[in-house]
Amino acid sequence: MASCRFCLDNNVDTWFGSWCARCHKLQRIIALFGVEKVMGVLENVLIVDEETQEHKLKEELKSELTTREYNLRKKKDKKNKALETITEN
Ligand SMILES: [Zn+2]
Repeated sequence: MASCRFCLDNNVDTWFGSWCARCHKLQRIIALFGVEKVMGVLENVLIVDEETQEHKLKEELKSELTTREYNLRKKKDKKNKALETITEN
């Protein structure tokens, strides 16, 4: 059997076919979701340059720190209110 003309890796799935089973599956996925959506996912997930990776990491850390700070502030406020009620009475 000949190798797939698309991935050049697997054998074709039918005797007269030119693509393998996996590439036919890819073709069906593209037909189902649209080529723009599939390319967008591939580019966002797989093709990420270092600068973008660093940016994403920084954003992730920033949101994590903001959430922690907010939670700490909330705890502190609760503690202060509890102390105020104790000192008032
Ligand atoms: Zn293939």
